[in-house]
Amino acid sequence: MRSALSSFPSEHQILNPATEEVVATVAASTAADVDAAVVRAAAAQRAWSAAAPADRARLPAPLRRPPSTNTSRNSPGWRSARPATPSATPAGRRATVRDLLAFAAGGVERLSGRQIPVAGGLDITLLEPLGVIGVIAPWNFPMPIAAWGTAPALAAGNAVLLKPAETTPLTALRLAGLALEAGLPENLFQVLPGAGDVAGDALVGHPGVAKIVFTGSTRVGKQIMAKCADRVKRVTLELGGKSPNIVFADADIEAAVAATPMSFLDNSGQDCCARTRILVQRTAYDRFLELLAPAIESVVVGDPSDGTTQMGPLISKSHLERVRSYVPEGAEAIRGSAPEGPGFWFPPTVLTGAGPDSAAATEEVFGPVAVVLPFDDEADAVRLANATDYGLSGSIWTRDVGRALRVSQAVRAGNLSVNSHSSVRYSTPFGGYKQSGLGRELGPDALTAFTETKNVFISTEA
Ligand code: NAD
Repeated sequence: MRSALSSFPSEHQILNPATEEVVATVAASTAADVDAAVVRAAAAQRAWSAAAPADRARLPAPLRRPPSTNTSRNSPGWRSARPATPSATPAGRRATVRDLLAFAAGGVERLSGRQIPVAGGLDITLLEPLGVIGVIAPWNFPMPIAAWGTAPALAAGNAVLLKPAETTPLTALRLAGLALEAGLPENLFQVLPGAGDVAGDALVGHPGVAKIVFTGSTRVGKQIMAKCADRVKRVTLELGGKSPNIVFADADIEAAVAATPMSFLDNSGQDCCARTRILVQRTAYDRFLELLAPAIESVVVGDPSDGTTQMGPLISKSHLERVRSYVPEGAEAIRGSAPEGPGFWFPPTVLTGAGPDSAAATEEVFGPVAVVLPFDDEADAVRLANATDYGLSGSIWTRDVGRALRVSQAVRAGNLSVNSHSSVRYSTPFGGYKQSGLGRELGPDALTAFTETKNVFISTEA
């Protein structure tokens, strides 16, 4: 298991995005490393799936002490913002992993098939583990997202090979180390840091990997789905988003405004659920902007290790350049502030003059940039909200319960919240409509997604 940084033969530098300092060096796994890991994982999985369910349920327990912030400074997600949700703090993210492990462990002894009434015998279904699972994670919430796939997959009797993003492998490596210390059988959970088009691609194409759980961009997700099709390999895709924040004039406008900054600035906007299209009913539009301006301008952007900081830097220089390209010089906007000097900084920005068809209003920026657009009525709000290839999340602000339900039913997205911006809980299903993804993670069926259903008919007439 690759859990000791010092044992790596070659170096890939991991930077602190707030200072541009090198915090660690990690070697990139090769396709041969992936081959060897699959062989080890397959052997470990056979023993694991044969273990008593109660033993499998107990084993992850010590793992519920996920890493502290000290090992994860390269992650922008650790302390980039005052929380919009409890899971947005470093401690909250650790708690998310702990809770997810507990939830998955609790599912081991409840993972049961069915008995179906049939003529001439008894019909039962068996839920069998798939085998070796490849989890490919992005850099924006490296530890929680790695755990979304890993915890239920292990609980359902599988082995996991985790490929973290190039820029954020440290928490994954630490989790693997903790897993070993906790007594998880060797090779059952291995981490393969490395390049997406090398280690990631090798995992996707490997005949010994039964399922890929991919979280990342829609572009790469499509490539992975196509490659999985070759072997009819199972795949779950958690992809990009361009989520609406729909504010009706009958809403508590003060509350809607107060919640708006962190609905797209959490994690410096590097959040697949970021509400980057702020849709405001025309009759409340001016009032909303008047209140929003000071709220955006007062967001504290700075050193992620400072407790007063609300928003940190972006992950890398190249990502900063990409985000900047969506905000032309002189664009009409409400702008916050950002530090000068080293670090990949971009100020909170709400574009007030971008049209609904502009790049900023239609493409996933993945930075602290939102657009605000007016709408006329409920039908117009739904039309605008659905005018995207994405369908991950969204928020609806209104005091009218009937309207909240109608709009929740009409918006084509997997995770909606009314009068809040909450999105992800370990106990509720998460995933996207349209090009935001395929399948669901988390929630009551999290373990089932890592099983194959086998139907067995037993004749009583023989
Ligand atoms: P990315 O697609 O560039 O990379 C994601 C992962 O895929 C990385 O580990 C990368 O190394 C790997 N990868 C890249 N090319 C590959 C290939 N050819 N074969 C196999 N693996 C490959 O995404 P990113 O920039 O790391 O993350 C940001 C994206 O993730 C955004 O689009 C964001 O919306 C999305 N995201 C989605 C969710 C969700 O749950 N829907 C959650 C977080 C992030």
